[in-house]
Amino acid sequence: MTLAEFAEVAVPLPVKTTFHYRIPAKLQTQAAPGKRVMVPFGPRHLMGTIVGFADSSPFGKTKTLESILDEEPVLRPDLLELTRWMAQVYQAGWGETIAAALPGPLRRARTPMKPRKQEEPPPATPSQPFKLTAEQQRALEAVLEPVQSKTHEVFLLYGITSSGKTEVYLQAIQHVLDQGRDSIVLVPEISLTPQAIERFQGRFGPEKVAVLHSGMLESRRMQEWNRIRSGEARVVVGARSAVFAPVRSLGLIVVDEEHEPSYKQDDTPRYHAREAAIRRAQISGAAVILGSATPALETYYAATSGTGIHLLRLQERIDEVPLPEVTIVDMREQIASGRRSRIFSRPLEDGLTKALTAQQQGILFLNRRGFATFAHCRKCGHVLRCDSCQISLTYHIATKKMVCHSCHASTPVPDLCPICKGDYVRFEGTGTEKVESELSRLLPQARIDRMDTDATQMRGSHARILQAFSAHELDFLVGTQMIAKGLDFPRVTLVGVISADTALNLPDFRSSERTFALLTQVGGRAGRGKMPGRVIVQTYAPHHYAILAAKTHDYQAFYRQEISIRKQLNLPPFCRLADLTVRCTKEMTAREGTENLAKLAKELLPAGFHVLGPAPAPIPRLRSHYRWHILVKAPGIDAMTQHLPALLKKFRCPRNCRLAVDVDPL
Ligand SMILES: [Zn+2]
Ligand SMILES: [Zn+2]
Repeated sequence: MTLAEFAEVAVPLPVKTTFHYRIPAKLQTQAAPGKRVMVPFGPRHLMGTIVGFADSSPFGKTKTLESILDEEPVLRPDLLELTRWMAQVYQAGWGETIAAALPGPLRRARTPMKPRKQEEPPPATPSQPFKLTAEQQRALEAVLEPVQSKTHEVFLLYGITSSGKTEVYLQAIQHVLDQGRDSIVLVPEISLTPQAIERFQGRFGPEKVAVLHSGMLESRRMQEWNRIRSGEARVVVGARSAVFAPVRSLGLIVVDEEHEPSYKQDDTPRYHAREAAIRRAQISGAAVILGSATPALETYYAATSGTGIHLLRLQERIDEVPLPEVTIVDMREQIASGRRSRIFSRPLEDGLTKALTAQQQGILFLNRRGFATFAHCRKCGHVLRCDSCQISLTYHIATKKMVCHSCHASTPVPDLCPICKGDYVRFEGTGTEKVESELSRLLPQARIDRMDTDATQMRGSHARILQAFSAHELDFLVGTQMIAKGLDFPRVTLVGVISADTALNLPDFRSSERTFALLTQVGGRAGRGKMPGRVIVQTYAPHHYAILAAKTHDYQAFYRQEISIRKQLNLPPFCRLADLTVRCTKEMTAREGTENLAKLAKELLPAGFHVLGPAPAPIPRLRSHYRWHILVKAPGIDAMTQHLPALLKKFRCPRNCRLAVDVDPL
């Protein structure tokens, strides 16, 4: 029951303000923050959410609330506060952010159903807590301190691969459950395998665990949301958006593989789930564990410079399994010595043959899909490109099509060059399909499958391939980063990285960090059982510090080098970035708009800020839109949050253009 005259309502539009509506007498008893309402909005009717009350309205003429949709608020105060904070920091509308926090049916004016009886997920094998090693025990005790006192603390659990981070999470969660509180475990989408989920269900029982990820049917997701909200499920395991899980009493959030780029949402609100998790835990007085073998530079810097994150280390592998031996192969030497194959060096070919003979398994990793990564005419030099994005098209042999990896448009393979009509179109560059086909040519008797987004399009095929690999019905698995994480197969003794250079050569200041993390992760798939593992990394840059550090499993060495470069160039964590991109179908308009934006930014932003650009965006044309951008460097996130809105308010985006703002872009 409210006695206020007006409700403050956030509507799901890209606007920075909330709107005031008069509460009619008949709705006075029902109105409450976090409930969805129908409101008149210009000529339309919109669904919004009550975010607060007011005794007066700053607007002269105020419309009236039409109806209230919920009996109980769909957002409790902690999630209302989280969405408010996210909208402010990531420069999005509060209503848009609320929409992102709700499951699909609730964005469309449906009412939450009563929880239904849980359908049976195959039964998980029950598991008991393992005896912890001394370092695991120390880490657990450190985390339990704030858990017991119900205070907010953030920990970085920095542990090498196979050091038993998950067991620490599981035992910490058990304590939180014993307190009658709830936990959220965030896992990168591609690591959310049945194997990973079973570890939580096996320990706590399937009825206590809810799973949330983007591949779920909406109805199933809604059902899980209801189970969490009703208090039936007390442990939530999910991808990025599970940070919005409607738990009743939050005690702990785990962000596993906290360095993963997939924690960043690439559409409005462009939030980072790690930052959102920390903020949510702070609101609720909960503890946070950030887990990683290769922490994000920002996180490790915060944990070692006394800025609010406690560092916990796990440096021993469980059962003292040694780390795999890493061999770096200089591909320049391979080519110079007359070797014809640019896909398999001599050491990799030998390693593959040996693994097959010994009835062991191998993983071949390449972060590029398709067969050939571009096609060109050897007569006139023309490269086949996407009409709307201008990036080169990838040849996919399975579908016999040229595909744009940016907008997914596909075209048939031309018989003749579209420019000179010559018969000289040739395919170049290697993707996973080609690795698979070359491998079966090299070892015809080997049983091989491929795992990438093309091969796993069909629901369930991901699990099917892993099942076959686990049952040793396959000798080799070829794949993209989909196979880099979480897979735990004791027969895998060889991991081959076809090219470490694909990630290294990206025009991004994080490319070294990505390469080091990827090599460490994919290498960690080798030698997890009793047999020692071996990793072969092929590269044209064998002396790069990221590759050398991966060879010696030396995160510290990598970190020291990388952090000094970041400091020198004033890049994160020494500043915060915002990317402001203007896109338009007319290149001139996009360019001029961005020039005006840059000029205005230089005028308006105070000392300590830097404006880079204007320049064409890293993908200069996407779906027929030209994209120009500027980068804003701020001394800190508070300064960014304080000063960016004035710039965005003052900037007049040219007609038919759109401005996209990405704070902390990846
Ligand atoms: Zn040609
Ligand atoms: Zn395209």
